[in-house]
Amino acid sequence: EIAVDGLAKHYGSLKAVDEFAINIRSGEFLALLGPSGSGKSTILMMLAGFEVPTAGRILIDGVDCTRLPPQKRNIGMVFQHYSLFPHMTVADNVAFPLKMRGVGRTERRRRAAEALKVVRLDGYGARMPSQLSGGQRQRVALARAIVYEPRLLLMDEPLSALDKNLREEMQLEIKRLHHELGITVVFVTHDQGEALTMADRVAILRGGKLQQLSPARELYERPANLFAAGFIGEMN
Ligand code: ATP
Ligand code: MG
Repeated sequence: EIAVDGLAKHYGSLKAVDEFAINIRSGEFLALLGPSGSGKSTILMMLAGFEVPTAGRILIDGVDCTRLPPQKRNIGMVFQHYSLFPHMTVADNVAFPLKMRGVGRTERRRRAAEALKVVRLDGYGARMPSQLSGGQRQRVALARAIVYEPRLLLMDEPLSALDKNLREEMQLEIKRLHHELGITVVFVTHDQGEALTMADRVAILRGGKLQQLSPARELYERPANLFAAGFIGEMN
């Protein structure tokens, strides 16, 4: 379980994230939904350990992780502007987090091949990223994020660069992974349809503040909730 309490990130007078609090259950798929600039990426960066909060706490399974560096958090992350290392093969890209953690070469190879199989890219290990389609690159980024079996997978608009068909295919792929691995997922999107179809619960953000937190089903069944909040228009 992840317990976030009073989380804030200020840049000068700008409150990018303001008093953000949430409990995320183990195995839950949570979507963070909000317009551009609402603080979604900043929250993920603090959860991952790439940004230090101005205030607040992050507990993961009861352990205070607020100030732990990223490599000590056992968190996988797929970034908004995903970046594979262009000079490395697909297999080396996927194995990179293992190398950072001091895992030996043979074991790295084995686990990278396994992760590539999970995202249905077995046989692609020797390719260079430039020889892949956008969707395949995104799946490599996903394989790299799960290769060390993190307890929490953070994804920042991982599908926004893909065309509609590929996006829908990858949505299913990510859901399948979530079921298969039983992992906790926090998924950022500004697409409400994507949030509703993929997530167990949806957290809606605006101006760094949590506006609403509801089961996805409830938002489906009572969309008045959402529209009444009056900022969906702003998202599109
Ligand atoms: P998008 O959907 O466009 O990715 P977002 O919800 O991810 O938006 P954030 O990237 O979290 O938004 O940014 C939240 C606010 O914090 C924005 O107003 C942004 O300009 C500001 N911000 C983010 N990083 C910095 C920084 N390093 N220095 C100053 N301001 C920042
Ligand atoms: Mg962002």
